[in-house]
Amino acid sequence: MKKKILFCAAEAAPLAKVGGLADVVGSLPAALRGQGIDARVIIPLHAGISWRKLGGQKIFSFKISIEGKREIINVYQLRIKQTIFYLLGNKTYFSGGVYEGDSVKKYLFFSRAVLAVLSDLPFHPDIIHAHDFHAAPIIVELASLSRQNRPALVLTIHNLQHQGWSSLKNIEAFSFRPSDFSSDAKNKQGDWFNLLAAGILAADKITTVSPNYAVEILTRAYGQGLEKLLYRRRRDLVGILNGLDVDVFNAAKDKLLLRNYQTADIKRGKYLNREAIRSYLQFPASTEPLFVFIARFSNQKGLDLFKSASLHRLAKRYPFQLVFLGSGEEKYEQLVADLSKNLSEMIRVINVFDESLAHNLYAAADYFLVPSRFEPCGLTQMIAMRYGAVPIVRATGGLKDTVQNNKTGLVFKDYSAVSFANVLEKALKLYYQNQTEYLSLQAAGRAQDWSWAASAPEYRRLYDLLGAI
Ligand code: ADP
Repeated sequence: MKKKILFCAAEAAPLAKVGGLADVVGSLPAALRGQGIDARVIIPLHAGISWRKLGGQKIFSFKISIEGKREIINVYQLRIKQTIFYLLGNKTYFSGGVYEGDSVKKYLFFSRAVLAVLSDLPFHPDIIHAHDFHAAPIIVELASLSRQNRPALVLTIHNLQHQGWSSLKNIEAFSFRPSDFSSDAKNKQGDWFNLLAAGILAADKITTVSPNYAVEILTRAYGQGLEKLLYRRRRDLVGILNGLDVDVFNAAKDKLLLRNYQTADIKRGKYLNREAIRSYLQFPASTEPLFVFIARFSNQKGLDLFKSASLHRLAKRYPFQLVFLGSGEEKYEQLVADLSKNLSEMIRVINVFDESLAHNLYAAADYFLVPSRFEPCGLTQMIAMRYGAVPIVRATGGLKDTVQNNKTGLVFKDYSAVSFANVLEKALKLYYQNQTEYLSLQAAGRAQDWSWAASAPEYRRLYDLLGAI
C-alpha cells in the first residue's frame, strides 16, 4: 500500500507564496510521488487563492467553536499537476494574506481546524508532516495519543527565527490542553507557550532544510534560543537539502521569461533579458554587469552589509548596476531606499512581491547576491545558478552546502561589510578581467542538479523509519 502523508503548512506554491516554504510544500509532494508516496497538502484558503479558477471544488463544511463563537470552515479540494491540495476557508481567520494579522491566533486556528477535519477528510494519513510553528500545535496534540491511535509525526523547521509564542489564554481559546505542551516549551511562569519548541519536543522526527543548518542550530550562534532543546533531540533531527521544482525554474521553458534560453545560447539569451530589464528599470544603457538581490527584507538577509560608500568606491573602478526586489521590515526598506537615493544612477529598488519580475531578474542577472546572516537552506542561490546568474553568498546554512567557492560561485565568510565589499570586488574583477573564468563559474552552476532527485529518497527513508516505530 502507498504510504499516505499530509503536509500541513501556511503556504504552498503556486497557491500562496511568501517565501521558500511555499516552494518546498508545493513541489516536494510531486517528487515523493516518484517514491511511491501519496503526499497531499492542507493550507488555509488565504485571500487571493482563486480555487474556482483552478478547478477546485467545495467538498464539505463543518463548524467548530472558538471562545463560544461558532466558526464555519469550508473544505475545498483541488489538484495541481497531480498533487491534491485541501484548502480550509474561514471568514474570521483566513480572509487576509498568509501572515497578515495575528499570525499566532491564525495558525492556532488553522491547527485546530486541521485536527477537527482529519477524521472527515477523504484521506487518512499514515504520517502528519507539519511545517514550521504554524502547524506545530497539530503535532503537540496528536502526540498525546498512544502511538497505535495516531499517525506518525514529522516536523520540518524551515526557519528557526519564527517560533510562534502564544499566551495561555489563546492556547485555551483554541481548545488546546496546556498540559500537552512540555514545560520546556513554556516561559518560567507557564503562561507563554513556544509553539515551535513544543512541536520539536513532541514530534517523532524533526527535519530541517539543509545538512549544515541541522548542525548549526545546535549552537548558540544559530539556535535562536532552542539549541539545547534541539541538542536533546539530535538523534531524531536530520538535515535534508531542499530541492526545486525544476520545471518551474527552467530558463529554457519558463513562461514568465521574456526570452527563453538554453546552454547553447545562454550568452545571447541573458543579454536579451538583461537589456529588457535595463530598459524596464530605466537604467542607462550600458555593458556593466547586473547584480540582483531578491528576498524578504528582514534582518536575516544581510541588507545591512550594503554600504553606500563602499559600493560607490567599487563602482568608480568597476561600474555595475544593482537591483533589489523585495519588501518587509521598514528599517530595511528605509536602508535600501537610502542606498538608492545616494547611488541613484546604479541602483533600482522594487518593493513588491512579483513572481514574474523575479524570474526575469534571475534570467537577467550576471551576479546574484545572498549575503545572509543565517540561511536555513535558501532557494534563490539555486534558482540563480539554474538561470546562469553566478551566486555570491555567505558561508552559512544551506548556502554553504550549495555554493562551492570559486567553482560554482563566490563565498565569503565573515558577516561584515568589509568581507562583503571584498567579495564584490573579487566578483567585479573576475567579470571585467577574466571572462573565461567567470563563464566557467556560470557553466558549473548551471550544471548542478537542484531537483528533488537526491532529497526525495531521503524523505522516503525517514518516513520508512517511522513505519517501524
Ligand atoms: P525565504 O524562505 O527565507 O524567504 P528562500 O530563498 O528559501 O527564502 O525562498 C525565497 C523564495 O521567494 C524564492 O522562490 C524567491 O524567488 C521568492 N521571492 C522572495 N522575494 C520575492 C519577491 N519580492 N518577489 C518574487 N519572489 C520573491
